Amino acid sequence: MDRPGSVDPVTVPRDAAPRADGKIALIGLTRAEISQELERIGLAPKQAKLRTKQLWHQIYHRGADFDEMSEVAKAHRALFAEHFVVGRPNIMEHLVSEDGTRKWLLQTEDGHDYEMVFIPDADRGTLCISSQVGCTLNCRFCHTGTMRLVRNLNPGEIVGQVMLARDTLDEWPKPGESSNYDPHGRMLTNIVLMGMGEPLYNFDGVRDAMNIVRDKEGLSLSRRRITLSTSGVVPAMKRAGEEINVNLAVSLHAVTKEVRDEIVPLNRKYGIDELLQACADYPGTNNARRITFEYVMLKDVNDSDEDARELVRLIRQYKLPAKVNLIPFNPWPGAPYECSSPERIEAFSSLIFGEGISAPVRTPRGRDIMAACGQLKSAAEKKSRAELDRLAEEKQAALG
Ligand code: SAH
Ligand code: SF4
Repeated sequence: MDRPGSVDPVTVPRDAAPRADGKIALIGLTRAEISQELERIGLAPKQAKLRTKQLWHQIYHRGADFDEMSEVAKAHRALFAEHFVVGRPNIMEHLVSEDGTRKWLLQTEDGHDYEMVFIPDADRGTLCISSQVGCTLNCRFCHTGTMRLVRNLNPGEIVGQVMLARDTLDEWPKPGESSNYDPHGRMLTNIVLMGMGEPLYNFDGVRDAMNIVRDKEGLSLSRRRITLSTSGVVPAMKRAGEEINVNLAVSLHAVTKEVRDEIVPLNRKYGIDELLQACADYPGTNNARRITFEYVMLKDVNDSDEDARELVRLIRQYKLPAKVNLIPFNPWPGAPYECSSPERIEAFSSLIFGEGISAPVRTPRGRDIMAACGQLKSAAEKKSRAELDRLAEEKQAALG
């Protein structure tokens, strides 16, 4: 069945509704925008600039709220708190999987649910963040794809996810630690834009958020530790390389027009050749900075030896410095596919490795809490409104 918007998705750039308390959230704003806000509440331009610098440091380097900003004069703190909030996504639920993966069900101020996942490993910790509430694309194997797009997340809501993870993991730099403190030993080391949504259909929001995440006087995450995953929005890819300039992952998933048209309907608009040419043209790609092709293993759909050989041929034809990530299909209620058998996945992987291209099989993480790739959506929809309200009330009560 074709759902509206499946081939030529039009994102509805509906803005976030203003906060009910009339306050402005500072996170997600540029320095210039913060200064403007400070002038609006009566600070002289020079003061505003100075306070902006302080606020930036406190918010993004310390993770502080107004009442914790001891370096800022008390009168100013009170004035700021009257007009602004720093701003964090609201946590509706926080689940921890038996393998250590965490999933948060979050809510925007105007009441939309979205999710974020943290995946700890021995040598790194990866935060998987969302760029939209829902998705306009309807990849047939993806649970998020069965949701309507509600709206783009704004930069504050995207950066807010990273801030929230740092809060939970208690990873703000200790007093005296510099901005670009050593990532070694930290739990949150990497970010992937692989949660809900198609990041390149929220181009400006994602770009502005990543600029803040990378800012040296703030969160200071290196671009090498950030990966953006796209289902293949070809016209935005070059610009993404130039303006966002992070690692690229492409959800390829099939090597023939017939199959890709079916499972990634966007392929009917931007075909495989166009997509691979855009990968070849992606700025800054080289052997040290490869493109990752994501490939979900669907039983009897895209998992034959012939598919694997064609994948190798295509990567060679376009001379792509590439690696392949094989993702065992994560089931969800009503999904029209099954996961390939472990033996089939192993054979597929070996064939590609045998041709000198890295093709590891990704271990599914957090399946027990529906946190694995493509499973995001369920928590929000399974719970009734009343249940969510009750959880929110409990949270409020717990906060005292
Ligand atoms: N919308 C972007 C990024 C988010 S999805 C994109 O599509 O690239 C992150 C990855 O999970 C994508 O490669 C996506 O195709 C894959 N995925 C979606 N549903 C899945 C499922 N049920 N099982 C395994 N992987 C899935
Ligand atoms: Fe959207 Fe990505 Fe899911 Fe496709 S796989 S429906 S682009 S979130």
